[in-house]
Parts: sequence; C-alpha cells; structure tokens
Amino acid sequence: MNTTLRLSPSPNTAAFVARIEQASGQNLLACYQCGKCSAGCPMAAHMDVLPNQIIRMAQLGMRDRLLAADSIWICVSCLTCNSRCPKDIRIAEVIEALRDTVLSGGSREDRLDIQKLSPEARGALPPIAIISAMRKLTS
Ligand code: SF4
Ligand code: SF4
Repeated sequence: MNTTLRLSPSPNTAAFVARIEQASGQNLLACYQCGKCSAGCPMAAHMDVLPNQIIRMAQLGMRDRLLAADSIWICVSCLTCNSRCPKDIRIAEVIEALRDTVLSGGSREDRLDIQKLSPEARGALPPIAIISAMRKLTS
C-alpha cells in the first residue's frame, strides 16, 4: 500500500505564491527560518507577524492572513533584514509585494487621517515620516 502523503496547493494558493515571488523577485523556498531577519528588524516589537513569519506564511500561500497583517504597513523599508539574511532573500521586497497586492486589489482604506494630526505634530514630524505614512497608509 502506498502511504505517501502528497500535499498539493490549491490553484489560488499557488497563484498567490507565484505572484509574490514574481513581484518581489525572490525565491521564497530559499528561506530556512533562521530568524535573523526578525532579530535585526527595528520594528519587530510593533509587528503582529514577524518578518521570518511573513516569509513562512508566504511560502505556504497564507494570502488572507498576510494581506490583513499590520506588519506589512509597519515595516519602514529600512532593509536591515535584507542585509542580515544568510540566504540573500530580500525580505523587504517581499513585504513591498504584499503591500502592492493589497493596493492593486482595490483596498484603499485610509489608515491615517492627516486631519487628526495636530498642527504641532504636523510641524514636528519629519516630512519623510508623513510622506511614508501617506504612501503606505492612505489611498
Ligand atoms: S534571515 Fe533569511 S533565511 Fe533567515 S528567516 Fe529571514 S528570510 Fe529566512
Ligand atoms: S525592511 Fe521592514 S521588515 Fe525589514 S528590518 Fe526594516 S522594518 Fe523590519
């Protein structure tokens, strides 16, 4: 009797994994979960899904969980993870591909209401922080 268990991803799962690999230019299966990307990430303490977990979930095609994660918007694209990865995976590009997937899917929910920032905050915040937030968090 053949007892081999074969697991085949659904077409939707396979298409999602292929899209993220194509958009990011990365081979997701190269990741062996060493965790160095998360260990070096300056935003990890604020993330609901750590960078190494993002890569693992992307390998598995966990589309809905990934696209709903706050982490993909909390990432500040500092590229520290890229420089730490022993497999030369560009994690930041994978996260950018996830953001692009959300935005290109028509989800344009505002996550930052600029009007709620006080004049003092608008004056004190570094312009690049506001621009980054606008790019990532608003339509
Ligand atoms: S550093 Fe690279 S190999 Fe290690 S968990 Fe992160 S993506 Fe995977
Ligand atoms: S690019 Fe994003 S995920 Fe990578 S270390 Fe910087 S904040 Fe963390």
